Amino acid sequence: MSTCPRCRQTIDTQAIKCPHCGNILKAYGHPGMTLHQATQEAYLCESCTYHEDDTCTFPQRPFAQSCILYQNKLQKPEQPITLPLTRKIKNWCYRNRGLIFLTLILFLGLIWAVIN
Ligand code: SF4
Ligand SMILES: [Zn+2]
Repeated sequence: MSTCPRCRQTIDTQAIKCPHCGNILKAYGHPGMTLHQATQEAYLCESCTYHEDDTCTFPQRPFAQSCILYQNKLQKPEQPITLPLTRKIKNWCYRNRGLIFLTLILFLGLIWAVIN
């Protein structure tokens, strides 16, 4: 559960629209695209990472009241998931199984030629 930035009522995190005030919460009606919204008088850009590093090219900058790309500069970005080595090797073998199969056939053929 989360709260609506406009009416402060408790709402479902997947809600596309606030059932209490009708505030649009997701961009393009897609539950995976959060539409970040300014809560008070402050614009979103004031606390956005992309405004701070000057990489944003959105026309609503620096007065964005709502934005799908907003990234709070005070929140640490999520760390990328690192897989254990055995899992990486397993994934590599799966992706290159054709190459491994051909190498094995070639190797067996070479052994066959040496023996005969
Ligand atoms: S990404 Fe959105 S909130 Fe961030 S600076 Fe650009 S317009 Fe503003
Ligand atoms: Zn609401």
